[in-house]
Amino acid sequence: MPYELLCSLQFALYGGCWALAAWLIPEERPALLHWAANGLLQTLAGLVAMQALAQNQLPPVPCLMAALLGAGLSVRGIDCFLHGQARFDRTGLLLGLPALATLAALDIALPAGPERMRWQGLAYTVGMASLLLLYGWHCWPALRRHQGRVVAIVVLAPQWVTGLAAVLSLWPRLTMDAEHMALMREGSRLPGAIASLVTAGVFNLSYLVLLMARLLGRLREHARTDHVTGVLNRRAIEDALQAAWERHRRKGTALAVVVLDVDHFKQINDRFGHTAGDAVLAGVGACLQQQIRPYDHLGRWGGEEFLLVLHDQLGDSAVRTCERLRTALSQATAALPGGPVTASLGLALAQAGDESAMALVQRADAAMYRAKGAGRNRVCSDDVPAVLAA
Ligand code: GH3
Ligand code: MG
Ligand code: MG
Repeated sequence: MPYELLCSLQFALYGGCWALAAWLIPEERPALLHWAANGLLQTLAGLVAMQALAQNQLPPVPCLMAALLGAGLSVRGIDCFLHGQARFDRTGLLLGLPALATLAALDIALPAGPERMRWQGLAYTVGMASLLLLYGWHCWPALRRHQGRVVAIVVLAPQWVTGLAAVLSLWPRLTMDAEHMALMREGSRLPGAIASLVTAGVFNLSYLVLLMARLLGRLREHARTDHVTGVLNRRAIEDALQAAWERHRRKGTALAVVVLDVDHFKQINDRFGHTAGDAVLAGVGACLQQQIRPYDHLGRWGGEEFLLVLHDQLGDSAVRTCERLRTALSQATAALPGGPVTASLGLALAQAGDESAMALVQRADAAMYRAKGAGRNRVCSDDVPAVLAA
């Protein structure tokens, strides 16, 4: 079997897989379609080159143009992946179009023969190297920000290595005479095919890593988030509480826990329906999240109950935070159905006698029920006796 056919089959397989993935994962469709299109173009380029070589001719220039266009689409797929859409891409055009135009111009300007082949080979290699090196450079900051340094390196390293290899191949291409060039072309068919199989494999695997990293991240996010309120779910807030508790035990840092229960929430459901109730819960979650510091934690404990884990807060400042939350909540929910919404808050501060994080939650829960009994819309705490009714 001709080596080029093997390479084309491999590209067809990758292109088909990306097309299937584009159909299955609509959220990432723009990027996946770019990678599928690359597979298709490289397949066509390989098949045409194979036919030309079988007739002892050089691959025609559309073949080189298709391969270059495919490489451009492949790297542009990373930009689509990062931005979730196919945007106008000045960098890609600036890097790809000059090489494509030069290839076409050389086809018209020079007679067919080894000299034309040499200059077209050079234009192709310069275009490919600049696409791989400079486009990769252009994507690096966003890739690192979105997916982290390790994934960014996994994705861009193959491009940079291949781009550098292309740069290194420029000098022999420039200096070699026609006879040596023909010999080298014949002798490099097997190594060339192996290099193509390996690079295509590594490139496509690196895109697969990129896709997996995003899908896993999304899955992790879903597993930690309560979808009605957008705050941490029960499992995630319990994890955050446990981590905060261990830090408190290890370092002796202050820790406060607040149980917040929305007052008369059932009436909102009964009067306006459960959809309106959900919207109110979402409003409460958004308001509380906005009020706490980035390193504190907020989660939905149960129906209309929220748990807050406040780090490094001693009695007075924890009470002030609770009062701020209570006031902000009624202001932020004034326009919602049944608004303004009020809440009862129970505050507990970690103490030497506490046996576990759950013991702390139980004290906060008991304080919250006392706030209910005392008339609602207030903060209660056993640990800070000065907490007064609103
Ligand atoms: P209290 O002031 O004593 O806390 O009264 P309440 O009405 O807030 O408390 P109660 O426990 O009687 O009612 C809580 C209601 O919360 C009952 C339940 O239907 C509703 N609920 C729980 N989860 C959800 C949810 O996800 N969406 C909506 N819309 N309602 C919910
Ligand atoms: Mg309630
Ligand atoms: Mg309740």
